[in-house]
Formats: sequence, structure tokens, C-alpha cells
Amino acid sequence: MGRIFNFSAGPAILPEPVLAQASDAVREFAGSGMSLLEMSHRDKRYDAIHEQVRAGVVETLGLSTNDYDCLFMGGGASTQFSLVPMNLLTPGHSGAYVDGGEWGAKAIETARFHGDVDVIGSSKADNHSRLPVIGDVPSRAAYVHLTTNNTIEGTQMSNVPSMSVPLVGDLSSDIFGRVREHANFDLMYAGAQKNAGPAGVTLVVIRKSLLAQCSTLAPMFSYKVQADKHSVYNTPPVFPIYVVGLVLDWIAAEGGMAAVAARNERKAALIYNAIDHAAPVFSAAVPDAADRSLMNITFRLASKELETEFLAEAKANDMDGLPGHRNVGGCRASIYNAFPEAGCKALADLISDFAVRKG
Ligand SMILES: *Cc1c(COP(=O)(O)O)cnc(C)c1O
Repeated sequence: MGRIFNFSAGPAILPEPVLAQASDAVREFAGSGMSLLEMSHRDKRYDAIHEQVRAGVVETLGLSTNDYDCLFMGGGASTQFSLVPMNLLTPGHSGAYVDGGEWGAKAIETARFHGDVDVIGSSKADNHSRLPVIGDVPSRAAYVHLTTNNTIEGTQMSNVPSMSVPLVGDLSSDIFGRVREHANFDLMYAGAQKNAGPAGVTLVVIRKSLLAQCSTLAPMFSYKVQADKHSVYNTPPVFPIYVVGLVLDWIAAEGGMAAVAARNERKAALIYNAIDHAAPVFSAAVPDAADRSLMNITFRLASKELETEFLAEAKANDMDGLPGHRNVGGCRASIYNAFPEAGCKALADLISDFAVRKG
């Protein structure tokens, strides 16, 4: 079967050259006579790649390895919901959180297991259909936490504020996908499976000066220990890290993050334009264009029946993964970095055509 247009929200589409190189490495890695799946994580040949990817993650974000360290951790972005307060939240202080969507709300719910939380902005009253306004940071705050792209609801921050306390960002669904002032962050984390690679590794990019302020914890939970050990305190997820490296090479070959981000703008515009011209059959779930995500485009149809019919037509035309998140319904087109422009055009055309037939 040929490749379909895969709009899955995650695990998600990967670039075809990355899949080809990853397949090769499964069979035999770098003339070693063995698969990368069989190779020791202490092998020099793997270690060279490990260090290259650690630096590459930082540099692809437009940052310097003099200032930032990259850690490879397990447990998904959801484990970072605990590790951030465990490492940064000291007694007498609070974590200040921005509630921009379900993932931000989960980060808040998790942080409450570890200490005090202040919510300094929420769009819950609008069902998270817009970005929250970020309020004042309380003096007791040890850090501010925000989500750059709200995967489920389809909103995304273009600019990130500069803060008086360490700024922590969950970049799980838009890392390497949008140019912004990443240097405003002191800590960024992302599960790889949306925009950076396969499931199984979480990227944590931390400002080196923040490491000194982290709490002393059991080794596997400690950013300090993980950084000291270059993320080989224990066996790292070797294969997912290798594939993240292939994705970084692909981004470089595409012209770097800025070129990929510019294409993301064009891709998203194709689909949003189609939706906005297809009223009343279609409507965008995020009304304010400035808040709309380039990565996850959420929209609804005028009735449940039309939605079912539309999704069936999309599927018949090799467009898969379009049903919205189970908690919010509707439709969602996830068009991460590796998603081709031709697929965005195909979806935009189907939306326009469907609206004419049903309008
Ligand atoms: C998917 C997602 C998560 C959860 O990631 P896991 O790796 O499954 O734990 C957290 N935050 C955001 C913004 C996400 O999109």
C-alpha cells in the first residue's frame, strides 16, 4: 500500500528519509555487523551519536551548548509533570502555572501532588478555545510553567514572555516547529513522538545555571545527575534517540528550523482558509486567528451527521487520523513538521468541495 496522509496527533508522521535510514540501522548499524537494536549504549559508535544528538537538539532550537544541556529521559512528557516540581519546587514556594488546555491542566493536577500551585492564567471558561492571558507572577513562585502548543484544543503561543523566575515550557507538540525566543526558557521538555521522533524518549533542555538550583533527589529523578552523566546514568532509549538525530539531520537538510516553520505557516494557512470559506458547514474551533495552532488544526461541522460523513469521505481518500481528541470531539488535523504540503492541499480541497455539496 502507498503512504496515506497521516493526520495522527501522536505518535505521528515522520519524514520518509528518516524511516528509510532508521530501517537500515535496524538491519545493520554503521558497518558494525549488528543492528543498532543490539548495540551496547556504552559502545563508542553509539556514544558518538548520543553526544551529537544532545548537542543537535540544543543547536536546532537556536541555543548554545555553552548555556544549555540536553537530557534524554523516560516516562513521556507526563513524567516531567512530576519531575519539574520535584527538581524546582522548594518548600515555602509555589509553581506558577498557565492553564491553556488539557495538558496544562494535567501538569497542574500533577504538580499539586508535590507542592503548592498558583494558576496565573486560564482559558478554561472558554473551553480553552483561546490562549489564556498570563497574569502577575506571585512573589512565592519558584518557576512559571506553560504549554506552548495546546495539542488537543488547537491553540499555540507564537511569542514566549521573558520572566523574572525560571520559565518552564512543555513543547511536546511544537518543538522544532516554530521560531520563537527559546532563550526565554530555562527548561523545555517534549515527548519526542509528535514532532521530533518516535515514542520512547523525552527531550529535556535545561539551562546549565538552573542545574545548580535543582533539588537533590534520587538519581533517576534528578536533572543534575542526568546532566552529570550525560543521560547515560542507566540505559537510555538508544533507538528513539538515534531517530531523533535523523530528524534533526532532516530539519537541517530542509534549511533549518526557520525554513520548516515557514512551511508550517503555509501548510496551516491552506487548511484554515478552506475552513473559514466553508461556513456554515465548517467552523474553526479557535475563532481568533492569532491564537490558532500551526500544528493541530481543530474544527467542527454543522452537525454530528455531517461530521461522520466528512470523516468517512476523508478516510476513503487516504486521509487518516482526523477525528478530534476523544475528550473534545470534532475534527483535528495534526500537521507536524514532517507532514507534507500536498496533504494539506488535499484536505483543504476536500473541505471546500464538501461544503459546496452540503451547503
Ligand atoms: C502529548 C502531550 C503530552 C503527553 O505526552 P506523553 O509523552 O504521552 O506523556 C504532554 N503535553 C503535551 C503538550 C502533549 O501534546
